[in-house]
Amino acid sequence: MDSGSIRRKFLDFFASKGHTIVPSAPLVLKNDPTLLFTNSGMVQFKDFFLGNAISKSPRIADTQKCLRVSGKHNDLEEVGIDTYHHTMFEMLGNWSFGDYFKKEAIEWAWELLTVEYKLPKDRLYVSVFGGDKDDNLAFDQEAFDLWKSFVSEDRIIQGSKKDNFWEMADLGPCGPCSEIHVDLRSDAERKAVPGRELVNNDHPQVIEIWNLVFMEFERYWNPQKGGSGEMLKFDLDYKGADKKAAREKLRSNLTLLKPLPNKNVDTGMGFERLCRAINLVSSNYDTDVFTPLIRFISEQSNIAYQDTTYLTNPRQGSSEKTDIAMRVIADHIRAVSFAIADGQLPSNTGAGYVIRRILRRAVRYGYSFLNFKEPFLYSLLPVLSNQLKDVFTELEAQKDYVSKVIFEEENAFLRTLDKGLKRIESLEGELANKTLTGEQAFELYDTFGFPLDLTSLIARERGFSVDEDGFKVEMAKQKSRSKADAAKETGDWVLVGDDQKPEFIGYDHLESEVNVVKYRKMKQKNKELFQLVFDRTPFYAESGGQEGDTGYIESANEKIFITDTKKENELIVHFADKLPVNMEATFHAVVDRHKRQLSMDNHSATHLLHAALRQVLGKHVEQKGSLVNDKILRFDFSHFTAMTPEEIRKVEDIVNRKVREDIVLDERRNVPIEQAKTLGAMALFGEKYGDFVRVITFDPKFSVELCGGTHVSSTGQIGLFKIVSESSVAAGVRRIEAITAEEAERFVRESVDILDQVKSLLKNPKDLIATTKNLLDEKHALEKKLEVYQQEQANQLKDKLALKAVKQNGYHLILEKVSVPTADVLKNIAYGLRNQFDDLLLVLAADVDGKPQVAVMIGEKLAQTNTYHAGNLVKELAKEIDGGGGGQPFFATAGGKNLSGLDAVTEKARKLIMK
Ligand code: ATP
Ligand code: MG
Repeated sequence: MDSGSIRRKFLDFFASKGHTIVPSAPLVLKNDPTLLFTNSGMVQFKDFFLGNAISKSPRIADTQKCLRVSGKHNDLEEVGIDTYHHTMFEMLGNWSFGDYFKKEAIEWAWELLTVEYKLPKDRLYVSVFGGDKDDNLAFDQEAFDLWKSFVSEDRIIQGSKKDNFWEMADLGPCGPCSEIHVDLRSDAERKAVPGRELVNNDHPQVIEIWNLVFMEFERYWNPQKGGSGEMLKFDLDYKGADKKAAREKLRSNLTLLKPLPNKNVDTGMGFERLCRAINLVSSNYDTDVFTPLIRFISEQSNIAYQDTTYLTNPRQGSSEKTDIAMRVIADHIRAVSFAIADGQLPSNTGAGYVIRRILRRAVRYGYSFLNFKEPFLYSLLPVLSNQLKDVFTELEAQKDYVSKVIFEEENAFLRTLDKGLKRIESLEGELANKTLTGEQAFELYDTFGFPLDLTSLIARERGFSVDEDGFKVEMAKQKSRSKADAAKETGDWVLVGDDQKPEFIGYDHLESEVNVVKYRKMKQKNKELFQLVFDRTPFYAESGGQEGDTGYIESANEKIFITDTKKENELIVHFADKLPVNMEATFHAVVDRHKRQLSMDNHSATHLLHAALRQVLGKHVEQKGSLVNDKILRFDFSHFTAMTPEEIRKVEDIVNRKVREDIVLDERRNVPIEQAKTLGAMALFGEKYGDFVRVITFDPKFSVELCGGTHVSSTGQIGLFKIVSESSVAAGVRRIEAITAEEAERFVRESVDILDQVKSLLKNPKDLIATTKNLLDEKHALEKKLEVYQQEQANQLKDKLALKAVKQNGYHLILEKVSVPTADVLKNIAYGLRNQFDDLLLVLAADVDGKPQVAVMIGEKLAQTNTYHAGNLVKELAKEIDGGGGGQPFFATAGGKNLSGLDAVTEKARKLIMK
C-alpha cells in the first residue's frame, strides 16, 4: 500500500467513527515559551487538556508534522544511523476530549491495524501500565482486560512508569498508556527469539508504532507538603548523580493524583513506521515516503544506495557511510524545508539555529561522503514538494522560496566547511587525551560555522571526543561579552481571585474596570519587573507583530503604570511599574489612546501595503514577518530582488489612494475559518488559526486578512503613508519600513525644512538640482587643478632640495625643514630624491598642512652599508614632535602633535648623523 493511501485510510477510518479531521498545526510554535517546535500531536490541543479552552468537536483526528531535535524529545543523534527515528515525522492521531475512553480507543486501534491495514496479528505486541508503588499508581487492569479480547496474554507486556505512564509536565493531566509494537524480523529470527523479549529494547526491527494515552488523572501539589518551593530547592541544590530518579521520587512524594472529571484519549502513531510495517520492509527509508528522495540523491551523486536490508544484514566499509549520508539527507531536507515553509528561517539563535544545525549536518554528510562540493540540498525541493503537495500545501506553494533560502545557506556554509574540516585534521595530531578542547570546538563554531553537534559527530567518526562542557563555558563567555542574554528569573504566579482566562475587550473599549487575578515578580538585568493578570482587559497584548498597549490602572488610593502587555499562551500579561498594595481593589484601567491610535494607523497601513505589494510585484508576495508600533511599521515579505524606485513609488501611490478613499473597516469576529477563506482571506503559512477567526477587510476587492490586531475605523485616519527603506533581510526575503500619520507628517516637514535650508544656502536658485550639480562639477575641476599645482610645487621643492645636497663622509646629506600640502607629496619628494642620489641621506622635518611629520630616506647604495636605519632614526626624531612612527630600514615616516618641534628635529638629526 502506498503512503498516500495509508494516510488517507487513517483519516477516513476515524472520520467514519465520528471524528472531525483537522489540519496539522505549524511545525514552528509561537506563543509557547516551553517549546520551540511541535514535537507531538497533542501540542496543538494542550489548552483543551488543561481546561483553558473547549474543543468544538469532542472527537478529532489528524496528521501532525512533528520535529524531535531539541528539549525533552531529541532523536537527532539516531537519525540516519538507525532507520526508524526521524527529525521531522508525521504523527497520526485520534483524540477524545471527555468523550470515548479506553474501550473504543483500543478496539479501533486494533480494528484499523489488523482489519484495514491487514497487519499480521502474530507480529504485534501491546504494552499496558504495570503500576508504580512509589507513586501509588495501580496496574492498568482495565486496558489489560480490553486487550485480552484481541491478543493472547503472552503478547501483553506490563511496562514501567517510564514507558507506560504519560505526563504533560510536573503537574497537570496524566495517565497510563498502552503502546503497540511490531516485530518485523524474519520468520527464522522470530522463532529463535520471541518478540516480547525485544519490545522496548531498542531493537531496530521490533519497534513501537502507536502510543495510546489515557488521560485520567490530574497531578497536583499535596497541600500537606512543601509544594513547588521544595521542588525548586531540589532543582537548584541537588548535586547527586542520580538526579533524575531522585527528582521523580520527590515529585511523587510532594504530589497527589485525582481523577479527571473529563477523561481524554490522546494517541500518536508514527506514520513512516506504519508505512514500513504495512509493507513489511526493514527500514523506513525503503518506503515511498523516502525512496523518491533517496533515488534522486543516488542519481545525483552517482553512488548506489545499496542497503535495503542494512539492519538485518549489516555490512561494513564505505557503502555503509554513503548509505547513512543518503538517509541523513533524505531525512533532514524534510525538516529544514517544512520549518522554512512554516516561517522559521535558519539563523544564529533559538529555533532558527536548530534549523541551521540540521541543515549544516546534511551539507557536511553530502560533502564528506557523497562528494557534493556545490549546493545540492536545494535541488531536492521539487521532489519533496511533489510527494506531499496534496497533504501539506504550504511546501508546494512556497517551493521556490524555500529552495532559494536553502541554496543560500548551503552556499554560505560550503565556503568555510572545507577549511573547518582541514582545521580539525590539523588539530587531530596534537590532541591531549584524544579530546578536542572547549576553545578548539568554539573556534570551529565561531570561525567556521560548525555547530557543536556537528563537531562532536565528526570527532566520533574519527575516534576522539569533544569537551562539550568546555565549549559551553566558551559560549557562555561570548554571551556575557555580547550581553545578548540578560539573565531572567521568573517567580511563581500568586493567585488573588479565582484563576480564570482573561477576557480581551480592547477591540471595543480603551477603558474598563478590572480586577487582579494573579501576579508575579521577575528579575531581569537586576531590575525587578512586575506582572499582573486581570479578569478582563482593554490592553492589547503583543501579537501578530503589533506591540502591546501601555497605560495605567487606578484605584481610589493608587495608580500603577502599565509599561507593556504580552501574551503567554492564553494569558494576557501586563507589565507594571510596581505591584498594587491592595490586590483586591477594583481598578479603572486606561489604555494610552494616542499610542494605540498610532499603532492602529500603522497596522492598517500594513494590510494596505501587503495588498499593494501583491498588485505591483505579484502573487508570490507573502508576509514573512511584521512589526507594528506607534512609530513605524516593518513588513517582511517573500520577493527575490530589490524593488526598483518605480515599484516603490507605485506601491506608495496605491496605499495613499486607498487612504484617501477613506475605506470603512469591515471587522468580523468568530467567522468559521472555511468561510473566511471563501471571503478571500489569506491564511499565512506557519500561523495557527482556530476554527473561528477574525477577518479584517478594507474593500473586499483589495485587502482581506485574518488578523487579531487593532485597526482604524476607516483608512482616512492613516493620513499619509511613506516608505522610508527597502532592504534585504535574508535570501528571498525583503523588508519595507514605512511610516504613517504624525510620523509621516514629521518626515515630510523635516525633509522640506532641509531642502529650504539648502536652497537658502545656495541663494534660492531657480533650479536647485542643476545648481547643485554645477557646484559639484566646479569642485571637481578645482580639485584637479589643485592637484596639478601641488605636483608642480613638489617638483620645484624637490629640485631645490637636490641643490642643497651636501656631499660628505661618503653620502649626500639633505637635512631640511619644509612645508608641503599632503603626506603623499612628502613621500613622492623622498622617492624622487632617492632616484637622483644612490648615496642619499635625507631627513625632512615637514609641516604637512599644519601637522608635523618627519621622513627619513636612505639611498640604495648607502642602505647596503647598513650604517643608518631609517626606522630607528625616525623613532628617535619623532620624540621632538610628540609623536611616533616607523617603517623600513631605508624609508620611514612619523607623525606627531607638536608643530613647534620641527626645528629641534633638524638639530637632533644633525647631531645624530654627525657623531
Ligand atoms: P521511541 O521510543 O521509538 O523513540 P517514543 O516513545 O519516543 O518512541 P512517542 O513519544 O510515544 O514515541 O510517540 C508516538 C509515536 O510516534 C511512536 O509510537 C512512534 O511511532 C512515533 N515516533 C516517535 N519518535 C519518532 C521519531 N523520532 N521518528 C519517527 N517516528 C517517531
Ligand atoms: Mg523517543
